[in-house]
Amino acid sequence: MLTREAIFRQINADNVEPIQEIVAVDYDNALQMPLGFRHRGRYYKVMELIGSFQESPDDPSVLYLVRTQAGVYALYLDLWKEPGKGHLHRGQWVLHFRVEEEGEDRMLVDMKLKRAADFHGHLCPDLAIGYRACQYALRHLELELLWSPGLRVIVESACSAVDAVQRLTGCTVGNGRLVVRDYGKHVYTFVCGEGVGLRLTLRPEALPPDPDFLALEEKIKAGRATMLETARYQALLDERISTLLKLPDEVLFSARRVAVEWPDEPTTSALIPCDRCGEPVAASHLVTIDKRRLCQPCAEQKKVTPPDR
Ligand SMILES: [Zn+2]
Ligand SMILES: [Zn+2]
Repeated sequence: MLTREAIFRQINADNVEPIQEIVAVDYDNALQMPLGFRHRGRYYKVMELIGSFQESPDDPSVLYLVRTQAGVYALYLDLWKEPGKGHLHRGQWVLHFRVEEEGEDRMLVDMKLKRAADFHGHLCPDLAIGYRACQYALRHLELELLWSPGLRVIVESACSAVDAVQRLTGCTVGNGRLVVRDYGKHVYTFVCGEGVGLRLTLRPEALPPDPDFLALEEKIKAGRATMLETARYQALLDERISTLLKLPDEVLFSARRVAVEWPDEPTTSALIPCDRCGEPVAASHLVTIDKRRLCQPCAEQKKVTPPDR
């Protein structure tokens, strides 16, 4: 099945099979999406709406990209104004094209990268950076890991790269061998043995800000991008990913050995109800204020957990 990213890759490469036929569509007014369409005697049920696009701000026509059991199709709701009838529109549905499935995800040649992308859900620049950081560190720490196994990692960003680290190193938040500090920085510290780590920092030259890319990203976030702009954005993303995968290690990261104090989380299985919200809390995570034992949100009085009483 084509991923969302692969769909836009195919559209950008014009790997589509043009159809251009008028079709009958079941349209749900409340959901504002097509539920299915009939084409050459066969019914195609919509399983997923990939996106809807208005191709120009002054044309009310809408292009829907839908996934059916037989592939991904572009359905075009062609709308035009009836002369002399005010705001009333007339329209027809056109089955525009089908996205070809051959050559899917040519981006993924490396099996380890493919596994990370499968785990994460897609291949993106942040995942590529995390992947490169792990490859670099595992190569450089190979010998040390032989006599001192039990790699641990500190990642200074809560982005997609965390999933690459979890998949490629086996260090996860759950097993306590991964600490995520959300500083928004591509900084990765790989710790093996006591007190020392290899700290990798993404060099600023590796991913310089690209105004065109950022402008397109804003447009997509605001829901104003056309289908071709969305496909073009995917192509720019792919260019970034290829660059990140190709750059030599030294150009991508600066690396240095650092002293590391691994944050020692007290672990306990004792659960004690918070004196304010009543929800059970690990004893190690309780905060005592005015003799009341509170969970952290209650201690900070974030009203996320209203008191029961
Ligand atoms: Zn991602
Ligand atoms: Zn509480």
